Amino acid sequence: MAVAIDAERSFTESLEHRLLDIENGERIRACLQCGLCSGTCPVGYLMDFPPHKMIAALRAGMFEEVLSHDSIWLCVSCHACADVCPAQIPLTDGLMTVAKEEMVLAGNTPVELQDALEKSQRYGNPLGESPRRRAAWVEKAGIDVPVMRELRRPVEALWFVGDYASHHPRAQLATVALAKVFRALDVDFGILGAEETSDGDSQRLAGERGLFEMLADKNAKALSQYEFGEIVTADPHAYNAFLNEYPGLDIAYPTRHYTQFLADNLDRLRPLLTGRIDATVAYHDPCYLGRANGVYEQPRRLLEAIPGVTLVEMRHTRQASLCCGRGGGGMWLDGFLWEKGRVRPSEWRVSEAVDAGAEILALACPYEAPRFEDATKTVAGAGDLIVRDIAELLVEAMDG
Ligand code: SF4
Ligand code: SF4
Repeated sequence: MAVAIDAERSFTESLEHRLLDIENGERIRACLQCGLCSGTCPVGYLMDFPPHKMIAALRAGMFEEVLSHDSIWLCVSCHACADVCPAQIPLTDGLMTVAKEEMVLAGNTPVELQDALEKSQRYGNPLGESPRRRAAWVEKAGIDVPVMRELRRPVEALWFVGDYASHHPRAQLATVALAKVFRALDVDFGILGAEETSDGDSQRLAGERGLFEMLADKNAKALSQYEFGEIVTADPHAYNAFLNEYPGLDIAYPTRHYTQFLADNLDRLRPLLTGRIDATVAYHDPCYLGRANGVYEQPRRLLEAIPGVTLVEMRHTRQASLCCGRGGGGMWLDGFLWEKGRVRPSEWRVSEAVDAGAEILALACPYEAPRFEDATKTVAGAGDLIVRDIAELLVEAMDG
């Protein structure tokens, strides 16, 4: 028995050392056990060990007990806990991610997540699509979308399109719309096409650090062949990876989310918005654009520039926004979340949009439209709610 307790202690100590290696990881020792993290967590009530209990277990030298429960996979890496922690402990990127890495190492991974991770490794994207089809959406665009390999000259903006924006049929509609906006603004841009690989940010948050580094390395090799002024992306996880994670791997490029890029070009964009969208619009802040990286105003400025739009706020907004349930591997854990808690976070959000009187739910993340559109079919009173990416709304307004 003493041997078992010693083994548990030494496992906990080695895990604590890994946490201490993370930026600001030493703050974990300053935990007040106030429980704010767990109380704020949208799925904390379903977890056997929500964040504050995980820290208590760490202190008690019994972290293996935490890892013997699979409810950590309910965590959608939404940053809500880290954001409210008075001790500024890196909970999302630190505690939760390291614990998930341990779960992956132990092979304790839900089947659907394992499948997405294997597809990421094999095909360079979690959907299992052929890498050669990465730019297949261009055929749907019906406009010229330059590919860097064919362009063979420097461009102002390299558009990193991302996994879902490239491959998912619903997300592709927003991708095509953004291409049209870039074209209308005469932006000098190019895409990597088949040379682009998953940014790997969600795989990292789902506990697959090694896979993340492998994917980042592939992107670094592709990017190093070309000259460009900056990276622009519509994918908040790609944005987060280029902004916060890739620099640690010596991959550093100036990067903007497309809403930042367009808001900075609003003087040129506004005269093109000749049509009206007479509607009440609620904007959903994606976790990795808003809470994780502080981009709140630019998407709203774009929406307010559309003639006829009346912007309203949902109950949870900006820093307190509710997660759509897709971040940090959540998009690969639909079945698990439903089985464990009978919850679909996207339905909570759609209910809030209905309560706010919105006719349109506006988005700035390619993961969200399919999920929210599904939710409009199941949430009472949401049947008429229209789900649109901001780029799609801009094109509608440009078309008059
Ligand atoms: S919010 Fe921070 S200080 Fe409070 S219990 Fe959670 S981790 Fe500890
Ligand atoms: S990151 Fe979000 S889902 Fe995960 S523990 Fe924190 S609040 Fe909960």
